[in-house]
Amino acid sequence: MTTEITTAAELHKIDPVFGQLSFDNHEQIVFCNDKDTGLKAIIGIHNTVLGPALGGTRMWKYANEWEALNDVLRLSRGMTYKSAISGLNLGGGKAVIIGDSKVDKTPEMITKFGEFVGSLSGKYITAEDVGTTTEDMDRIHKVTSSVTGISESLGGSGNPSPVTAYGVYMGMKAAAKYQFGSDNLSGKKVMVQGIGHVGETLVKYLTEEGALVQIADLSQSRMEEVAKKYGATVYTGSDLYSAEVDIYAPCALGATVNDETIDRLKAKVIAGAANNQLANEQVHGKILQQKGILYAPDFLINAGGIINVYGEIVKYDKAEAMRRTENIYNTTLDIFNLADSQGLTTYQAALALAEKRIADRKKEMSK
Ligand code: NAD
Repeated sequence: MTTEITTAAELHKIDPVFGQLSFDNHEQIVFCNDKDTGLKAIIGIHNTVLGPALGGTRMWKYANEWEALNDVLRLSRGMTYKSAISGLNLGGGKAVIIGDSKVDKTPEMITKFGEFVGSLSGKYITAEDVGTTTEDMDRIHKVTSSVTGISESLGGSGNPSPVTAYGVYMGMKAAAKYQFGSDNLSGKKVMVQGIGHVGETLVKYLTEEGALVQIADLSQSRMEEVAKKYGATVYTGSDLYSAEVDIYAPCALGATVNDETIDRLKAKVIAGAANNQLANEQVHGKILQQKGILYAPDFLINAGGIINVYGEIVKYDKAEAMRRTENIYNTTLDIFNLADSQGLTTYQAALALAEKRIADRKKEMSK
């Protein structure tokens, strides 16, 4: 007798990997385990139609392995669309290492992880993400060439974060143009949540243009440092989502636009660096549209980093990477117009454009 499966929890019990809510026809999922170094990592290869799956490695203290698997599935899928919409010949992949990067990371663990990456013979290419650094990529480079974001002294393009920040800035300006009628951010109140590698450079661009920037981060000392450096204001309230700002820039972790926060948002534009900002892209994308909050799709505007590291695979040219990243401004406006004309959310419009590019390539390949 077969019983009907009605909930995601029931589905998990039967199909723990392919039954994951975030599973989206990923091509390959690799579980990496090394007892000696304590490495536990998962590499997610979502789609390689456009090229090798390139995406960073995140090291994070996940509450459990399900959370890590869910994250790598969501992140790798996002990379497929990010590269596709940016016109790069890359597929989508991502890796997660389970652990606290400040406590658990060792050179041996990173080397071992590099060996696992190398064993995939170029199908997955790694780079930095939250919890990993250029130094880690240099270490991985010693055992495999399937790595980008390595130091300039080794022929790489260095830390991609400043380029990511520039793309987010371009996307934010396009969103301001569409929502407020001008892309001049002078006098606009912006909340930057997370002032790490990307967030800090974004704060720099914004304050230079005269935006009134508030910053929020888990680290008090970091906030004080960045506030002093750029003349930003440390947010001292208890609920940054309900802060009276024009623009909310999520630059920490994903899923901050969720059932709990969405009704409290006062900002009229969401434009930031974090991946997977909408906890549920379909549901929350629609609610934002109904509330008149313009959402600049994350995978579109945070593509500066991947555009920059892509140069390491073809031929690195900083000026070309910046030019391509600057073009995020135009693509973002195109997406807003497309969404408007087709009655789609901005997320759906961006996704449609990315999916079309992949489908077109698949068609070409089958000829
Ligand atoms: P980072 O680790 O350097 O910075 C993240 C910052 O967010 C840290 O300062 C941390 O303290 C803060 N933070 C974490 N949780 C927070 C919370 N709940 N509230 C407030 N602050 C919090 O990371 P990064 O490289 O700056 O990346 C930021 C985001 O952008 C990540 O989601 C990353 O995946 C995404 N992203 C980064 C790049 C890149 O080039 N670095 C490219 C694309 C997307």
